[in-house]
Amino acid sequence: MNLHEYQAKELMVRHGVCVPAGEPATSIEEARTAIDKLFAEGHKRVVVKSQIHAGGRGKGTFKDGFQGGVHLADSPEDAAAKAEAMLGNVLVTKQTGEVGKQVNRLLITSAQDIISEFYVAVLLDRALGRPILMASAEGGMNIEEVAEKTPEKIIREVIDPDLGLQSFQGRKVAIALGLRGKLIGQTASLLQALFRTWHECDGSLVEINPMALIKNEDGTEQVVALDAKMSIDDNALYRHPDIAEMRDLSEEAPLEVEADKHDLNYIKLDGNIACLVNGAGLAMSTMDAIKHYGGEPANFLDVGGGATQEQVKAAFEIILSDPNVEAILVNIFGGIMNCNTIAEGIVAAVKETGLTLPLVVRLEGNNVAAGRQTLTESGVTLITADTMSEAAQKSVAAAK
Ligand code: ADP
Ligand code: MG
Repeated sequence: MNLHEYQAKELMVRHGVCVPAGEPATSIEEARTAIDKLFAEGHKRVVVKSQIHAGGRGKGTFKDGFQGGVHLADSPEDAAAKAEAMLGNVLVTKQTGEVGKQVNRLLITSAQDIISEFYVAVLLDRALGRPILMASAEGGMNIEEVAEKTPEKIIREVIDPDLGLQSFQGRKVAIALGLRGKLIGQTASLLQALFRTWHECDGSLVEINPMALIKNEDGTEQVVALDAKMSIDDNALYRHPDIAEMRDLSEEAPLEVEADKHDLNYIKLDGNIACLVNGAGLAMSTMDAIKHYGGEPANFLDVGGGATQEQVKAAFEIILSDPNVEAILVNIFGGIMNCNTIAEGIVAAVKETGLTLPLVVRLEGNNVAAGRQTLTESGVTLITADTMSEAAQKSVAAAK
């Protein structure tokens, strides 16, 4: 599950990361209140920031031509005008794709006097099986580009999950980033707090880009988080009801939200052959088989090991709401799953949805004879296949 910047910052603050003052707003009235509050507290400039689940907002463009999803403002009137220009408007960034994302929320935060910007993140290194801290002095930049063109500019510090990020490790990274004097200890504390946020919230990624070295009004220097990105491991959400409540369904693909309601694992893809499979591994190899025979899968869909007839029906409805779909491939290997349950689900779904698209079915395993009989006796038009490759070939041919 992905979070908005303002939510990620809230969690980071709880764990000790230093973040500039700010508040979210979903209407122009709320924005004005937040703006007035910051100016009343003595801040001289504010930043109005679009909250969408995508990066590259600063360099993005709104559909009506308004440039930039992150704006500095030095008066309450200016800030309110910027807020009004962004709210309800659709922002297109490198990460949103051409359709863009509607801005329903803003973060109004105090503007900082930036000296330099850094990139820091904590994530899981799957090869090492350990969390790592990644950092770079190339802050504010697209980190994928830095990793590709100048990999030597990325600092990696492996973290012992039992010990957490140690102070000496934080200092080592701070020095490697070019920080000196008191800033070394302060940065180390921030990095340790970032690791705790990742660990205690069951994050899969926490990222601050940029972490900025700023100059305060009194001339002192300090390191703070100006942006924040965070995703949480869905399997651990049950341990964090407060974080689960932060979920913003309007930011997620509607079909995936619908699938989630039925405990189905669905991911929409760009092809035209819909797949309905039990088990993630079989679903992956089914997509491979479709590709192997020159087709393109329209989705990944794992109905799980013990799907019910209702789930199969829901799965069909979800598959069919994708207008690109031109053929359906059902590939079931009945282990725990009873093939006849699937067969009954298919028949019910085909009848209720009035399916006209070609439907290829390959059933194998537990109670397969009864399943095949149910399909034959139903009178439903379908293309049967005995093996997975036959099923894939037939669905590719049917989609053409
Ligand atoms: P995105 O990564 O989506 O473009 P950021 O939050 O990183 O959005 O903002 C883009 C840029 O705006 C930052 O790199 C930083 O230079 C500037 N910025 C963001 N927040 C502040 C702030 N509170 N004060 C000053 N500048 C900021
Ligand atoms: Mg950023």
